[in-house]
Amino acid sequence: MNVVIIGAGLAAANAVAELREQGHTGDIVVVGEEPHLPYERPPLSKGLLLGSAEPDAAFVHPREWYDEQQVDVRVGTVVTGIDLDRGRVRLGAGGLPYDRLLLATGATPRHLAMADTSGAPVLHLRTLDDALALRDRLTEGARIAIIGAGWIGLEVASAARQRGASVTVLESASLPLQRVLGDEIATVFADLHREHGVDLRLGASVTGVEHDDGKAVVRVEDGEPVVADLLVVAVGVTPNDRLAADAGLAVDNGVLVDARLRASDPHVFAAGDLADQNHPVLGRIRVEHWDTAIHQGRHAARVMLGGDEPYTRLPYFFTDQYDLGMEYVGHGAGYDDLVVRGDLAARQASVLWLRGDRVVAGMHLNDWDAIEPLRAVVGVGATDAVRDPSVPLADLA
Ligand SMILES: Cc1cc2nc3c(=O)[nH]c(=O)nc-3n(C[C@H](O)[C@H](O)[C@H](O)COP(=O)(O)OP(=O)(O)OC[C@H]3O[C@@H](n4cnc5c(N)ncnc54)[C@H](O)[C@@H]3O)c2cc1C
Repeated sequence: MNVVIIGAGLAAANAVAELREQGHTGDIVVVGEEPHLPYERPPLSKGLLLGSAEPDAAFVHPREWYDEQQVDVRVGTVVTGIDLDRGRVRLGAGGLPYDRLLLATGATPRHLAMADTSGAPVLHLRTLDDALALRDRLTEGARIAIIGAGWIGLEVASAARQRGASVTVLESASLPLQRVLGDEIATVFADLHREHGVDLRLGASVTGVEHDDGKAVVRVEDGEPVVADLLVVAVGVTPNDRLAADAGLAVDNGVLVDARLRASDPHVFAAGDLADQNHPVLGRIRVEHWDTAIHQGRHAARVMLGGDEPYTRLPYFFTDQYDLGMEYVGHGAGYDDLVVRGDLAARQASVLWLRGDRVVAGMHLNDWDAIEPLRAVVGVGATDAVRDPSVPLADLA
């Protein structure tokens, strides 16, 4: 059986490792558009921007590993089409046959047309090359404007401040990360950035971007324009699902896969940022996190080899901003209650989100021993003990 993987990212690198670990001896070809072997993206907005990590540390496996594993990785190569009937992918003029196909094409940053057409200095952050270009611009005294106070926008703000740049963040919501975390915890992040000197403008609606003598001028409704040496647009991503849609696979803001990561064609699977899974616990969900790309990549590999387990792992996410480290597990959307253990103001705490009679998500701030107890508590009933902050987390599961 030969396997083709489209997209040479984190999900792909982990799928390959799992295929070989499970004893698969058939051909494996990984086709990736970027000129690099698969790498981890989290360092791109953290250590790499800070200058404390080098690009080499981000690669999932060294080149020799792929050679040893007899995996044919074709970097700098775009897959232009999939022929489901013939079991072939198209690469420019050539093609590749497959018995099993894994789609792992990730996602692309959303663009704002007004920024793209302005001629002003504008960057997005997704690739290693984006990160290296951005790192060069984060110099002492540089003025950086960021549109979007999501995870990427805030991590860029943190790195830029630590490198001595002045930073303005423009966010249309009334708090950063409000939709994911809710007001109380989102406020912790707003305070964190303001304490570190970020000019955080909330409820700010950007109406235009202009170019003025090498600078970006960002116009804001009811506010002063922001003049910056660089504008970073960090307003989320869209899944790279065009290829799948054009092939006739079921797609709806991501490739629709069942609980076992199988797409609408029996020989095709999807994993990572691209995959909109019918999760056995959470229902339809597409997760744009590092941990999901790793574990779905491995899971898809096992299912391609005949495994029949559903993918049940809960979403997990981490961030590092200034001296704050945070890990989050579960899916707290639509929560109706929140329980905090510890001290939010000191940013030393754990938090549980409750919905109905269940714990649906947990998070810690700078309490690294808490993640396993949190993982164990997500999904359990919202008992009196869970709701009582004086009961230690470790006693709940
Ligand atoms: C800057 C940054 C920081 C992040 N930090 C965190 C973090 O702190 N914590 C966390 O949990 N998550 C983080 N993430 C998210 C995490 O990195 C992603 O969830 C993960 O990379 C998704 O992996 P993937 O394999 O699905 O896709 P990707 O890693 O995006 O790989 C997909 C690859 O497919 C290629 N491709 C697309 N179309 C084609 C085609 N037609 N032909 C060939 N190749 C194609 C793309 O070029 C890309 O290289 C971060 C992401 C970014 C960008």
